[in-house]
Amino acid sequence: MIVSTLGFPRIGPRRELKHSLERYWAGEIDQAALQEDALALRAAAWARQHGLGVTHLPSNDFSLYDHVLDTAAMVGAIPERYGWDGGPVGLDTYFALARGTAGLPALEMTKWFDTNYHYLVPELAPDQEFTLATTKPLDEYLEAKSLGFQTRPVLLGPVTFLLLAKSSNGHSDGIRMLAGLLPVYAELLRRLEAAGADWVQIDEPCLVLDLDDRARSAFRLAYAALAEASAVKLLLTTYFGALGANLDTTLELPVAGLHLDLARAPGQLADVLEKAPAELALSLGIIDGRNVWRTDLTAALTRLEPVLQKRGDEGLMLGPSCSLLPVPVDLAIETGIDDELRSWLAFAIQKIEELAILGRGLTDGREAVAEELARSDAAAAARRSSPRIHSDAGTARLKAVTPEQTKRPNPYPVRREAQQATLALPSLPTTTIGSLPQTAEIRSARAAFTSGKATVEEYESFLRNETEHAVRWQEEIGLDVLVHGEFERNDMVQYFAEQLDGYAFTQAGWVQSYGSRCVRPPIILGDISRPKPMTVAWASYAQSLTDRPMKGMLTGPVTMLQWSFVRDDLPRETVCRQLALALRDEVRDLEAAGIRVIQIDEPALREGLPLRAADRPDYLAWAVECFRLASSGVADETQIHTHMCYSDFNDIIEAIGALDADVISVESARSHMELLDAFETYHYPNQIGPGVYDIHSPRVPTAEEMRDLILEAAKRIPANQLWVNPDCGLKTRSWYEVKPAVANLVEAAAEARTQLA
Ligand code: GLN
Ligand code: ZN
Repeated sequence: MIVSTLGFPRIGPRRELKHSLERYWAGEIDQAALQEDALALRAAAWARQHGLGVTHLPSNDFSLYDHVLDTAAMVGAIPERYGWDGGPVGLDTYFALARGTAGLPALEMTKWFDTNYHYLVPELAPDQEFTLATTKPLDEYLEAKSLGFQTRPVLLGPVTFLLLAKSSNGHSDGIRMLAGLLPVYAELLRRLEAAGADWVQIDEPCLVLDLDDRARSAFRLAYAALAEASAVKLLLTTYFGALGANLDTTLELPVAGLHLDLARAPGQLADVLEKAPAELALSLGIIDGRNVWRTDLTAALTRLEPVLQKRGDEGLMLGPSCSLLPVPVDLAIETGIDDELRSWLAFAIQKIEELAILGRGLTDGREAVAEELARSDAAAAARRSSPRIHSDAGTARLKAVTPEQTKRPNPYPVRREAQQATLALPSLPTTTIGSLPQTAEIRSARAAFTSGKATVEEYESFLRNETEHAVRWQEEIGLDVLVHGEFERNDMVQYFAEQLDGYAFTQAGWVQSYGSRCVRPPIILGDISRPKPMTVAWASYAQSLTDRPMKGMLTGPVTMLQWSFVRDDLPRETVCRQLALALRDEVRDLEAAGIRVIQIDEPALREGLPLRAADRPDYLAWAVECFRLASSGVADETQIHTHMCYSDFNDIIEAIGALDADVISVESARSHMELLDAFETYHYPNQIGPGVYDIHSPRVPTAEEMRDLILEAAKRIPANQLWVNPDCGLKTRSWYEVKPAVANLVEAAAEARTQLA
């Protein structure tokens, strides 16, 4: 039985790649040393996977930064401004594309489908020509071969590459360029074949999206051409969803094998079995490559055995649902979790062990793996019945939720008057999004506290001091609604997760977010509840320092869900409701403590949107309901804010309206208020603060330019609905940027008030 991984995490079990990259960028090691470290990581990954029983080892799954960028470099899709000479793409050019240079911004970055991994968006010129500029897939294939490993090179498929790319002039579309791109892929395949490659894995995750006829014909055209180009066997890999309406097209493609995601889309197996030609090899993505839970092996075998009977073992392969990129490397080096939780989890290495067991169970029968199955059964049973997972009180509370609890007692116009009476804000009120600069002193004070070098008292007195300074500064420059600065928070999700029951945390569970940046998502393992208030003490302290309204700051339920590893034994929407109830209690406690403005951040609401249009209304309905459940338990006088940061929210504008937050702040400075186009047709009923200060740039905007942005906004949205604020939190900026920028923002609001009066 062929066992494969589709791709292995590239960052290294202890983030070795991150450390090498950062040393290279800092000039501490040279190119040769970086390449040597990278080779060591690849060699270790091959040896490890081989040792665990993987028979189709991936190569070219490694990347120094991002595999989509690698593909752009491979085909010579490098915008002119980077000054590439047409030869092999050197590291300087590569990292300029990835990270920018002093005078040159990096390529745009965006989320890889619905994961939290970010790729660099290839940028194609209208007259883009492609050449085989870099032979990385071939080089790494040969490198593995020289180490004694026969590998299956992984390529990002040509159609997905073009569909993910954007054109530099905004007019032409990628598919148009397919004919020019195919010869490059054809040449590469020929060279891989000549070098000895037997199978090549070609990733086309766009096959799980809604495609039009044009895109479907592009797939037909592309794979006909590639089949003709070489005799290498292509495994067409699809993941992150079901093929759905693209199934028939996919089954017509002249490829040797097809990979299916059976974790996200288990239901598609029956259809595929019915329709797939007998000679098509099927790669079954039976193990969830996106989550950290141990697989129920008996259940998996029960699903696999009939497939084996039907198709025989010749044409079957086993794999994770997708590349193992979204999961941490090795549970064995994890020290942050208890033994019970450990027995319920599987990281990349453990998932490969599971695949190997399933492979043996299929070929040699269940008896051959009886012990492993018994252990898996025991873990599954223990997890199902553990009191850590289920709380009767929690279930009862969820059941008792009424529709009234998801509605504010009165409609917005009534609330608006009540809020104006207590808050007495000027027109175009000014505020910030919550966090203020996280300085080196703050980080080292936190490190001293967490490592036990500083006492709670010392740490908290330091934080109180920072908060007080921040409040004084905000009063001085004249902001209307103040924030406490979030100095006590390590991260907007982790800070809350650490105070909620139902969450667990890892020490070593790093996954790549982009480039050298890694995150350690917390794990939701059981029912969520809030043992005690989480933010009330800091909010009350900050409010006690000033007469101006102090915003209480919370992370919303959808964002908490989206940025965690979520338990797989409950629907996501149920977990989200539990989070919403915990936050609802927090909101009410803040109100009871005298906080009159409460912001519930939902930056991840948009990215939770399902890949298929048909699934979106359902998601938006429960996501909106969860936000409302969290936010609606307060009186009319209490002003609820929310914040979102992405520029393309036009397609979910109605859902944003349905949140019924009194005030929403959104990112828009970078796109020059493009988002306001949505308001030409949609009349947003409540108040909105389109960001006028692009906090992602170190540039300090002038008062005039921000005033002009406000006036621009006032053309589409009545001025009495507008707020003035930055795009996002200020934690990544320095005080020397933030101080003048926010002072200018206050001045801009004042000028705009006079002009609009
Ligand atoms: N309140 C958070 C902050 O200011 C919001 C962060 C975000 O939107 N990502 O940092
Ligand atoms: Zn933001």
